[in-house]
Amino acid sequence: MIRLEGVGKRYGGEWAVRDLDLTMERGEFCCLIGPSGCGKSTTLKMINRMVEATSGTIAINGRDVRSMKQEELRRGIGYVIQSIGLFPHMTVEANIGVVPHLLGWDKVRTRTRSLELLELLGLAPDEYAHKYPRELSGGQAQRVGVARALAGDPDILLMDEPFGALDPITREHLQGQFAAIQQELQKTVVFVTHDIDEAVRLGNRVALMRDGRLVQVDSPETLLSEP
Ligand code: ADP
Ligand code: ADP
Repeated sequence: MIRLEGVGKRYGGEWAVRDLDLTMERGEFCCLIGPSGCGKSTTLKMINRMVEATSGTIAINGRDVRSMKQEELRRGIGYVIQSIGLFPHMTVEANIGVVPHLLGWDKVRTRTRSLELLELLGLAPDEYAHKYPRELSGGQAQRVGVARALAGDPDILLMDEPFGALDPITREHLQGQFAAIQQELQKTVVFVTHDIDEAVRLGNRVALMRDGRLVQVDSPETLLSEP
């Protein structure tokens, strides 16, 4: 599904990521974990080409991402970050409908999809569809961010510390909810976190990075059972 081979990224003279090989199968939930500055976000952003790799190859379903149009990458790959960046002048429903709109879906289909996703994420559509981002709590806004990323029904979801800014209780709640959604949707997820508990809880594979390199890739069980 996603294959990175010998991937590296240099900013100026510094290599932020080097010689990274990683393959993710369809439906896999892979957590990229490691200390701040070790290259997790850069690795994630190279997959949808928000950042261009300096070396190596990244392929999605056998296609080199460099041969894919930016549009195709933005629409085909859901992306969720910590500061979700909801459009402030648009309602919750309109925010979720951004990608469907770009995909040319008609109004009815877009609306149905938006309301369905709100429901899925535990936000009553009647209550939340017409609210503006400023009227939401952090946890609610983050749910809308996840709904927006899911709206175009992408095969791949890239998530960069999506629950990082939340208080511990909301965070745990959202983790559980997201795990349940993933159980059903079976997206291929690449999830960046510096929190080992979160990685082990959510991932079926954990990729450990340090100083721009991948140092270990294992199942959470194996990782935890090691001394
Ligand atoms: P992480 O996500 O693990 O915190 P990042 O991928 O954000 O790590 O950053 C890896 C390294 O690359 C850091 O040293 C960071 O300062 C550097 N870096 C990230 N983005 C840029 C950029 N746009 N320009 C220059 N250096 C960058
Ligand atoms: P994150 O680690 O979650 O990407 P940061 O606050 O480190 O968040 O980075 C925010 C933005 O600034 C990112 O787009 C990143 O690529 C860029 N950035 C990070 N480090 C540097 C740097 N040393 N020089 C220039 N840009 C950077």
